[in-house]
Amino acid sequence: MITSSVLILLGIGFTAAVILAVASKVLYVYEDPRIAQVESVLAGANCGGCGYPGCAGAAQGVVEGKAGATVCVIGGDTVAANVAAIMGLEFSSMEKQIAFIDCTGGVRAEDIYHYAGVKDCRAQNLLYSGSKMCPEGCLGYGTCVTACQFGAIEMGPNGYPVVDPNLCTACGGCEQVCPRGVITIWGMTARITHLNEVNDCLAPCRQKCPGEINIPRYIEQVSRGDYAGALETIRERIPMPLSIGRVCPHPCEGVCRRGHVDEPIGINMIKRFAADWEMNSGTRQPVSCAPDTGRKVAVVGGGPAGLSCAFFLRRLGHQPTIFESMPKLGGQLRYGIPEYRLPKAVLDWEIEGILDLGIDVEYNKYFGKDFSLNSLAEDGFEAVFLGIGAWMNLNLRIDNEDAEGVETGTEFLTKVGLGMETGIGKKVVVIGGGNTAIDAARTSVRLGADVTLMYRRTRDEMPANIEEIIAAEDETVRYLFLAAPTRIVTDDAGHVTHIEYIKMELGEPDASGRRRPVPIEGSETLIEADTVYTAIGQKPELSCLYDETGSCSLEETRWRTLGADPDTLVTALPHVFTGGDMHTGPALVITALGEGRKAARSIHQYLNEGAPHVPDNLQRELIDYTMFTHVPDVGLRKRPTMPHLIEYDERTCSFKEIEGALSAEDTKHETCRCLRCGLTCYNRDLPEGVDCDAGECLKNQ
Ligand code: FAD
Repeated sequence: MITSSVLILLGIGFTAAVILAVASKVLYVYEDPRIAQVESVLAGANCGGCGYPGCAGAAQGVVEGKAGATVCVIGGDTVAANVAAIMGLEFSSMEKQIAFIDCTGGVRAEDIYHYAGVKDCRAQNLLYSGSKMCPEGCLGYGTCVTACQFGAIEMGPNGYPVVDPNLCTACGGCEQVCPRGVITIWGMTARITHLNEVNDCLAPCRQKCPGEINIPRYIEQVSRGDYAGALETIRERIPMPLSIGRVCPHPCEGVCRRGHVDEPIGINMIKRFAADWEMNSGTRQPVSCAPDTGRKVAVVGGGPAGLSCAFFLRRLGHQPTIFESMPKLGGQLRYGIPEYRLPKAVLDWEIEGILDLGIDVEYNKYFGKDFSLNSLAEDGFEAVFLGIGAWMNLNLRIDNEDAEGVETGTEFLTKVGLGMETGIGKKVVVIGGGNTAIDAARTSVRLGADVTLMYRRTRDEMPANIEEIIAAEDETVRYLFLAAPTRIVTDDAGHVTHIEYIKMELGEPDASGRRRPVPIEGSETLIEADTVYTAIGQKPELSCLYDETGSCSLEETRWRTLGADPDTLVTALPHVFTGGDMHTGPALVITALGEGRKAARSIHQYLNEGAPHVPDNLQRELIDYTMFTHVPDVGLRKRPTMPHLIEYDERTCSFKEIEGALSAEDTKHETCRCLRCGLTCYNRDLPEGVDCDAGECLKNQ
């Protein structure tokens, strides 16, 4: 009996062992040993800040490829490097991500609802669609502050949250709870590639700037004496603050809300101050670049558009090479804009800083002659940026236009820029009303000529910068308005002696909105001239796009510019992008710089994702509800004037730079006048009793 029981038990035991053995084979779960290894190098806090349930979960996420080496939000670079080593990944200084608050409003935006005291942003947003007049801005209840496990956010004095970058671990907790999307976890790449969106905190100046510079932010940084920070902000959008600080006609100032009170903020003066501070210090502020990708991109044309594209491509980790037809870089900044407005030494210093990031240049290489899109592809360039500007001059279409002594304004200015003999006479007539005409006229004065500028409309319609128009007059340039040339009169040797012109009157507005000049029959008149510079417009020289059979794979627009998608700047070929004057026609330096960054962004996306893309809510037009027509309750304060480096009487015989930078004190004063606008909010005024001119306002910020 006992024996049979023992046998039964043994039988059961054996069967169970067999079942377990089979089950262990069938149900065996393999655990990748790297999970334990990764877990062992994580910080071990099990804080959950990474979004995984503890460090074991995070380690599993890494091994499964769902999380990167930087998964541990409190571990820093050392932990990330160890994780990368276990996973066989390369770890070079990865981009620092940080919570970034792009709202300057906070409590300044007026309340539109009266409600029962809900003190939580999310609840406010759900119950009342937010309590503030600004539909996008911070509600100011600090839910993000409580959500931050690392004590990295506090409510600042202006009523919106302030992040301590040293404590921020980029865990994303604040971003998740913010109902307005005001907080974003951003690294440098994301910030550089961001385009203005309608729900960003876009003060009017930011909306208007073709370079999309975060103007309120850098003004605020300058006001705190953080000039390096201001330059970093500017260089997230443009690489040439020194040049722009000197030549930009500052469209931003035209929409400055302060302009409804007294005078717009001297935005460009503040930028110039920060840029000059760096150059005068002799030390370049560091500019960060993403880890090298080794992807080769050709940038054709080394003007502002090409330089900007190359700069941002390099910052995004790629390897750009600039191909330039001239012996030096800078485009019209060097060969058009004269020394007295932008000294070559300043331009050289600025360009050197851009190239120092590791950008190669091939000088004296003419696209369409020395190389082509095909040869670039054969040389391993994966994408191409075309930014060759608008260097072809429009003709007057009058008799004897090619007479001796008649030349285009740009040819003349380029000769001066290259230090060549110009052959200028004593009596110069410049034809045109734009920047080129004014620069040709003011340069002629400096070369000893008596100068008349002939323009077919009136002063009010002149496209040149108003400061330049006034300065030319101060420097003895005479204006002959409402006059259009009809014939060049020459001597027997074919040299110009006079211009015949016809008087005009203004008629109805044309497509550009300016009143159309209409000739007055029989009013032909002669004016003496031994030199004539024509400056009636330019267009891109696109013959370089055509091959020997006359065919071109890119699209030319009816304005004779290179056709491209206006947002991505991709041309008819998916790997070819454009920007600057070649795409827009003659425009501004800031437009060219802005397009250079946009093209770099698109090229980055093309290289990484196969095609560029843009968000649906891009800000293209000025946002209507943010454009005020009056700004009440703000005290008057005077705008400073730019100091002159040389006296008036010295100007006409010298190419020395005319304008200097504001003093540190005046710059502070000017930052103090800034209303710190957001979409709808602005600082109504300084606290009572504060005297801006005495600098007290600065203590109160
Ligand atoms: P560009 O500056 O023209 O640069 C194009 C580059 O491409 C040049 O370096 C050129 O040499 C190179 N290139 C051309 N063809 C080829 C080729 N086939 N192969 C290789 N390289 C080639 N704007 C302002 O904002 N403020 C001002 O005060 C102002 N004043 C101006 C004064 C003058 C006289 C002129 C002409 C323009 C002025 N502008 C001003 C306009 C401004 O300079 C231009 O809008 C800006 O330079 C355009 O930049 P870009 O890079 O598109 O072209």
